[in-house]
Amino acid sequence: MSPDESQLALKRRARRINRVLGEAYPYAHAELDFRNPFELLVATVLSAQTTDVRVNQVTPVLFSRYPDARALAEADPADIEEIIRPTGFFRAKARSVHTLAQKIVDEFDGVVPGSLAALVTLPGVGRKTANVVLGNAFGIPGITVDTHFGRLAKRFGWTASEDPLVVERDVMELFEPKDWTLLSHRVVFHGRRVCLARRPACGACVVASLCPSFGEGETDPAKARKLLRFELAPGKEALHAEMVANASAAAAIRQRTEAQAAAAAAFTADQATARGPRR
Ligand code: SF4
Repeated sequence: MSPDESQLALKRRARRINRVLGEAYPYAHAELDFRNPFELLVATVLSAQTTDVRVNQVTPVLFSRYPDARALAEADPADIEEIIRPTGFFRAKARSVHTLAQKIVDEFDGVVPGSLAALVTLPGVGRKTANVVLGNAFGIPGITVDTHFGRLAKRFGWTASEDPLVVERDVMELFEPKDWTLLSHRVVFHGRRVCLARRPACGACVVASLCPSFGEGETDPAKARKLLRFELAPGKEALHAEMVANASAAAAIRQRTEAQAAAAAAFTADQATARGPRR
């Protein structure tokens, strides 16, 4: 918030940004794949220090072998490690999800609790993870302050803080609770595709006229467009059009494209192995 902007003006500007982002990303959704609170909780713990894409690659195997907290609590940690290895820090993460599952079994009868107070008592579960699970698996509104959300909230002037708890509180003041969960998705989508950490694509940004940080990144429209990522990246126009036209199926469309990309990468790796070491 600039010194000249009243709280009311800030609120109005913030809500306009939310509306414009809603029009730009009608397909915004939780990018971690899950079918129930248990899967989302475990996937969120695994997403620390890695991408959602990478987590989505390992969770189908993990959940087919260990479909609930009881099964995961009884798993051999070495087996969990092997499955989740691609997500990095796999020993610590295996220990985390194993202990987490044991605690859910011991203290919540095997069922993931649906309140913030109970969720944050679970090992490795902070407010961010709890809000992700509450908002997306239980339908209880929450602001999820991850690295993208924190960065954009500051660039938008919604907060002056880098403390996630303060950011969460400041942003909650600006929006109705019913908007919190979807707002979190839209802001994170924008942070991953346009308002990038090192070089934001200001010249290709739909909220440029509402953003006090315009100019922090590339302002030349042609150069900025080249910085865009995922379905907004140059050459992905057909995918983007498909996601806009089928917003409710966007998660499935994204899963399909991720699977295709993984298959293409595996094929390339196989080819390289077959060719043998380069001399
Ligand atoms: S104008 Fe630039 S800094 Fe502001 S939201 Fe857009 S990309 Fe980010």
